[in-house]
Amino acid sequence: MTRNSGSGVAPLQVTVWNEFVHERSQPEVQAIYPDGIHATLRAGLEELLDEPATVRCAVLQDPEHGLASEVLRETDVLLWWGHAAHDQVSDEVVERVQRRVLEGMGLIVLHSGHGSKIFRRLMGTECMLRWREAGELERLWITAPGHEIVQGIEGDCIELPQTEMYGEHFDIPEPDELILLSWFAGGEVFRSGCTFRRGQGKIFYFRPGHETYPIYHHPQVRRIIANAVRWARPKPGNYQFEARHIPNPLERLE
Ligand code: ZN
Repeated sequence: MTRNSGSGVAPLQVTVWNEFVHERSQPEVQAIYPDGIHATLRAGLEELLDEPATVRCAVLQDPEHGLASEVLRETDVLLWWGHAAHDQVSDEVVERVQRRVLEGMGLIVLHSGHGSKIFRRLMGTECMLRWREAGELERLWITAPGHEIVQGIEGDCIELPQTEMYGEHFDIPEPDELILLSWFAGGEVFRSGCTFRRGQGKIFYFRPGHETYPIYHHPQVRRIIANAVRWARPKPGNYQFEARHIPNPLERLE
């Protein structure tokens, strides 16, 4: 969908990438996401991005996983959901996404995307963690009140009544900012909302999203994702690095 307010500002271009495996093989996941997790994420963005925006979807099964060079060139922010098929993502596409992030494309990595090739490549660590599927309560506490990513969230935390648990230690480099910290009924804690910069690109890792719970229908989860997209977009006038030889110094060298 394209929304245009007629203001003349170029619309924000978002691409939602999903491996689209569980929804096609597990009826309980299909019941929650009949058109795929990507379609639900897109609907949330279309509802909440209050500016001209184009939100497209791409899935693993598309040629080049839907991430041809032209698509990435036009993408301001890419969302990534993967779990069962990380290994099926081609290294060439990973390379291409990484280059675009370094050039300034925003990247939002969701839930089990922590194990994706692209996230591990950008982090430089294994990005592994502890987990348990017991349908327990999660509270995501806001640790950076006032941050753009938590704008419009009422109260001090978000409650998800049933989730998969992710626990520390989460093997990531020290985040630039910790925005949300999860507590689980079983006692574990987890860094659930983390920002990073790589080159000119902004990256947000956001934990919620296990496929057997209706997490991406939750209004506050949708709000955080929409806020993160706005936060991660390249800003006009972003510095563009250009390598060059400087034979003549500013100061005279003796
Ligand atoms: Zn999961």
